[in-house]
Amino acid sequence: MTSQTFDVIVIGLGGMGSAAAYHLAARGQRVLGLEKFTPAHDRGSSHGGSRIIRQSYFEDPAYVPLLLRAYELWDRLAADSGREVYRMTGGLFIGPPDCLTVAGSLRASREWDLPHDLLDEHEIRSRFPNFTPKPGDVALYEAKAGFARPELTVQAHLDLAEKAGATLQFGEEVLEWSENSGGVTVRTNAGTYTAGQAVICPGAWAPQLLADFGIPITVERQVLYWLDPVGGTESFVDHPIFIDENSDGMQIYGFPAIDGPRGGVKVAFFRKGVECTPETIDRTVYEQEILEMRERTAELLPALDGPCLDTATCMYSNTPDQHFVIARHPDSTNVTVACGFSGHGFKFVPVVGEILADLATSGATSHPISLFDPRRLVTT
Ligand SMILES: Cc1cc2nc3c(=O)[nH]c(=O)nc-3n(C[C@H](O)[C@H](O)[C@H](O)COP(=O)(O)OP(=O)(O)OC[C@H]3O[C@@H](n4cnc5c(N)ncnc54)[C@H](O)[C@@H]3O)c2cc1C
Repeated sequence: MTSQTFDVIVIGLGGMGSAAAYHLAARGQRVLGLEKFTPAHDRGSSHGGSRIIRQSYFEDPAYVPLLLRAYELWDRLAADSGREVYRMTGGLFIGPPDCLTVAGSLRASREWDLPHDLLDEHEIRSRFPNFTPKPGDVALYEAKAGFARPELTVQAHLDLAEKAGATLQFGEEVLEWSENSGGVTVRTNAGTYTAGQAVICPGAWAPQLLADFGIPITVERQVLYWLDPVGGTESFVDHPIFIDENSDGMQIYGFPAIDGPRGGVKVAFFRKGVECTPETIDRTVYEQEILEMRERTAELLPALDGPCLDTATCMYSNTPDQHFVIARHPDSTNVTVACGFSGHGFKFVPVVGEILADLATSGATSHPISLFDPRRLVTT
């Protein structure tokens, strides 16, 4: 049994935890990071090669200032790590004019004066010939959209955290944590550690590690599909990311061909999950699911109606209102939590790291995070 003292223990080194470990270590904090799996693993929520980043945020314009800061930090992360952690490709948000994807993106763009173009059905087809929008559909085009590389991002934050002096331990599962006067004690399968503060970023394991928190988080299985374009990947290389909404409100999204001529094009349903736990998630992807994805994709992108080359499963951790939870633990002055990212958290990873470092070191942040206050959700 080991016993060491740190300033901050970061529990979970996925998307958010790796960023928190980096920002804390860069501020001179003595950081211990604990992760039950390997660096940048594929068992949680931060894998699958790509994540959409965008600023015209249809979910709520309140996210925009955080995105403006996240973009600055994405730039800095790319420069500091020497890795292409993100790429701007432009983004097309398509659907009926009054749907959430279009009207919500437009609202956020207007409220924050974000550059954008509004395209009608014909303009979509002429500017982006792969797309065949439905009659009457429109799109908001945002040049400052693109994708991040989740595994590269996690690895970049881990490497920079270690370089800044953090101790990172993998294959080590946190079994319990408790608060004592002046700090926290964390017990793992390998030892017990103490620190002044803990930052808990458990992803889909929030219902276990934050069971006392009283926040109803529903974990959902989601599937990613890599489809092979019928005429080859060429016309999908220089291509925007996209989100397309049906008249029934179902959204699909996709990426350019970023994995070479045989890597296909990644597409997925945005919210078509089946409830699961990290233990019970079914990692098999069924023919019927592939068929459904291909049919829906082919309506919008007939050139993409080729065989499915690969699939992956991933978990969302949904709060009831699909907004995040980022705060000091309501019952504890030494514990900060970040969870419930509800399938749209990755683009915020660098700024969440900064916010968590603020909260752990000073108890407050200048970033606007009132939307993420857990007290809005506590049911007990
Ligand atoms: C299919 C899919 C598509 C997505 N698309 C987008 C997108 O396009 N754009 C976007 O912005 N977001 C997207 N997201 C959401 C985004 O990826 C997540 O919000 C984000 O990755 C969540 O990060 P996290 O740190 O909370 O979770 P994770 O990265 O899963 O990290 C949690 C970590 O905690 C560790 N852990 C848990 N319990 C313990 C324990 N007891 N002891 C030690 N370690 C522990 C886990 O092993 C894990 O590494 C998508 C998610 C999925 C699944």
